[in-house]
Amino acid sequence: MGILIFWNSGYTRQMRETDWTKVLGWPGYRVYGQEINEAAKTLKLWVRRKRGNRKLVCSGCGKRVREIIATYEREVRDLPWSQYRATVVIEMYRVRCPDCGVKTEKVAQLPSKAPFSKRFEEAVGLACESAAVRRVARQLGLAASTVRAIDLRYLKRWAEARRKPALRQMGVDEIHLGKKQKFLTVVSNLETGEPLWFGRERKKETLDEFFEKQLSRFQRRAIGAACVDMWEPFRQSLEQWVPQCRIVYDKFHVMQHANAAVDEVRRAEFFRQGGAARELVKGKRWLLLSRWVHLNTDKKRQLNALFALNRRVMKAYLLKESLDRLWSYTYEGAMLRYLKSWIDQLRWQRLQPMEKLARMLLDHLEGILNYCRIKVW
Ligand SMILES: [Zn+2]
Repeated sequence: MGILIFWNSGYTRQMRETDWTKVLGWPGYRVYGQEINEAAKTLKLWVRRKRGNRKLVCSGCGKRVREIIATYEREVRDLPWSQYRATVVIEMYRVRCPDCGVKTEKVAQLPSKAPFSKRFEEAVGLACESAAVRRVARQLGLAASTVRAIDLRYLKRWAEARRKPALRQMGVDEIHLGKKQKFLTVVSNLETGEPLWFGRERKKETLDEFFEKQLSRFQRRAIGAACVDMWEPFRQSLEQWVPQCRIVYDKFHVMQHANAAVDEVRRAEFFRQGGAARELVKGKRWLLLSRWVHLNTDKKRQLNALFALNRRVMKAYLLKESLDRLWSYTYEGAMLRYLKSWIDQLRWQRLQPMEKLARMLLDHLEGILNYCRIKVW
């Protein structure tokens, strides 16, 4: 039995442009011309966009552009083909961007103005990880300084490409700077503990700016929870920009309000009472803001002396201390029951600041109970 061998017919015997395109493997580009110099062992390929690849991007701002001003060519060195040193000549567009004016288009395979393709630079960068610059330079027929420059660009791109972890749980805090500069708003990633952004003041506009300028629509949608203070402007901003995000009023922020309420009671008593009692209340602010368990014997005695004289300050302090327990519950029913019993204790006490705090807690109840529903870091 004979064996039949089919030779390629004439038009396929030569490498076709589609084959050149396949071997080159630049996404979205096709080869339309080639030149081989056997003596010099060089290969030169001319490429342009494939018909379906018409999405032009401005190199200035990264936005999509439509208006083409001119075409031109850029020549870069690419990975070698077997023993041949390869050069690619790319047809490029100069575009008019509505924001940046006349710019060159952005091409993925051309990361910088240097005459090298991205994957060539990556190969050089990788080679530099395991060999001395001089050796890499000799192998590629490049100057050592050129190899160093390529390596640096490669490393910088690597650092940029390391994606920042997605913001899924955000913290919003205010920093009080003093009477003049007032407030700074700080946004942080609760999962990584990293502060991400600082803004002036603590208005709705402050947080709006973060959502608008720092995050894409896609990134905003990824935010599941936000730990914030019970501060209306922040709530409004969150509702507008991240409606799916659940607001959590955490212990830290609520206890700040509880401390403020105790201090308000202390100040009222300071003015109401005269003489020795007044002296006792004076200067006890920090003691009253401290947790009982954190105080030493002497400090506890000082507080007890104060409480003996002023039952209202004592009651306010104990209420604050017991409110802390609210966050020991992980089941929202239990948390709610505890909050109810806490508020019941306020009856007949005539502690205005504490009643104000209770109303605030009830107004923000969902966000407080969210502490049980969402595991925040
Ligand atoms: Zn632009």
